[in-house]
Amino acid sequence: MIILSPPTPPAAAQQPVAVVKLPRRAATDTLPVMEHFYTLQGEGFHQGKAAYFIRLGGCDVGCVWCDVKASWNAADHPRLSVEDVVAAAAQQPARIAVVTGGEPLMYDLAPLTTALRQAGFKTHLETSAAYPVSGTWDWICVSPKKFKAPLLEVLALAQELKVVVYHESDWKWAQSFVPALNTSTALLLQPEWSRRERITPFLVDLVKQHPQWRISLQTHKYLDIP
Ligand code: SF4
Repeated sequence: MIILSPPTPPAAAQQPVAVVKLPRRAATDTLPVMEHFYTLQGEGFHQGKAAYFIRLGGCDVGCVWCDVKASWNAADHPRLSVEDVVAAAAQQPARIAVVTGGEPLMYDLAPLTTALRQAGFKTHLETSAAYPVSGTWDWICVSPKKFKAPLLEVLALAQELKVVVYHESDWKWAQSFVPALNTSTALLLQPEWSRRERITPFLVDLVKQHPQWRISLQTHKYLDIP
């Protein structure tokens, strides 16, 4: 469990791992939401689990191979109230909420995670770690990008490191993050989708030689689900 302020909850209730103060971002009860929908988590450590996805608009990381470029401009997406989004999520039976983007940490996510947790959700974050963490998280997946370096303070909070591999040389780059992680952080390598036929066999051999890593496949794309 990772608790980040504001506000800081009682330690005994939440067993916080870390607290990060974020005075520069005002709390907001509305967020630019590109889409929110119920599906299965397609990739990463929790692949295959039913989850409610909340994809926020806005990202300035600029990955050339980004598969959600429509998310980049926050102004293209309506500002929805946290209350309405959480109410929609609560109509589904699963109690995992995945907050993704875009780059969700461009916003103060404390109001959203507070509302999700009050509705009984486990809160999962997908981030490039380009911005400090806000909100209260049960799971933080950091997927670092070369186009904007991840913050060490966010890497230190990650339960999951998921590195998208576009070129074989990305393996050394992936390894460079390990010293900043906890020893318990799950290490995943994911072939970039457009390069999967070339990269996947490379990753298979790599994981056989370095079994502390594992492969993450984008199963939602194979299953043709959102
Ligand atoms: Fe796209 Fe994510 Fe990179 Fe932003 S961080 S450009 S949303 S892949």
